[in-house]
Amino acid sequence: MTDLRTQAEEIHEQFSDQLEIDVDDVHERLETLVDEYKVPLDEARRSVTSTYLDEAGMDREELSGGGGNEQVQVSDVDAAEQWVDLTAKVVELWEPNSDAVAQVGLLGDETGTIKFTKWSKSDLQELEEGEVYHLRNVVTDEYQGRFSVKLNRTTVIEDAEEDIEVGDDDTTVEGALVDIQSGSGLIKRCPEEDCTRVLQNGRCSEHGEAEGEFDLRIKGVLDDGEDVHEVIFDKEATEDFTGITLEEAKEMAMDALDTTVVADKMRKETLGRYYRVTGPTFSRYVLADEVEELDGPVDAEETLIKARSI
Ligand SMILES: [Zn+2]
Repeated sequence: MTDLRTQAEEIHEQFSDQLEIDVDDVHERLETLVDEYKVPLDEARRSVTSTYLDEAGMDREELSGGGGNEQVQVSDVDAAEQWVDLTAKVVELWEPNSDAVAQVGLLGDETGTIKFTKWSKSDLQELEEGEVYHLRNVVTDEYQGRFSVKLNRTTVIEDAEEDIEVGDDDTTVEGALVDIQSGSGLIKRCPEEDCTRVLQNGRCSEHGEAEGEFDLRIKGVLDDGEDVHEVIFDKEATEDFTGITLEEAKEMAMDALDTTVVADKMRKETLGRYYRVTGPTFSRYVLADEVEELDGPVDAEETLIKARSI
């Protein structure tokens, strides 16, 4: 069976309760996007799913996984829109910043931690900090390289008897900052929902010309003398790291009538200095949660001793 056919059957199953649709019809829509318009399969699936969601008047969160989910661990989550089951401990609860959110915080298991969001309209039980739960039918999400899980109307929560020793999935890299790559500094992102792609000359590779929303980001390269490590700073990390806020960056760009002045200033103040960056990894990047400036080149001998003791 082709991949297209499998995907078509999965989509069909997801809507079988809500819509009278035909697998062949789903297949054909996918095929048109993939073959004629050369849309990658996962995007085609997203697009076709959106069409049916509109037809059914449903939110994406209301979509069930259709059948049994895989029981996964936190570190296994590496794609958006996967329906999974997790057993995890509530490590932290944060203050929700929207009425739509009932609870938000961090879940953890032996392999690491992941953000979770529980929707207000999901009507689920209150999760307590330090407690372990079996969570069935949660959906994964990704925003700027960070994965999260969402608890929705279809999620089932059960108290778990076991305790979990929550692991640390962070990586630490250090070295001289040798490059701040293009696409850093003051950037614009596509405003389309769930897109957030960085605009190139005012265009999104998926949605075409767009007004865009300003954001700050650094894509940097650390060189420790042996290896290079790519690091990404999101808006908060960039503001902390450079001391330049998004508002200040916008003013700088307006004064100069040029957005590239922001990255230039960042380069001038940080390139050649030594840093230690800690955070989760995404693809080949370390996402900077903590940044520490070091005095100079990393002491090779100390690193060796540390490595042996692990
Ligand atoms: Zn876009």
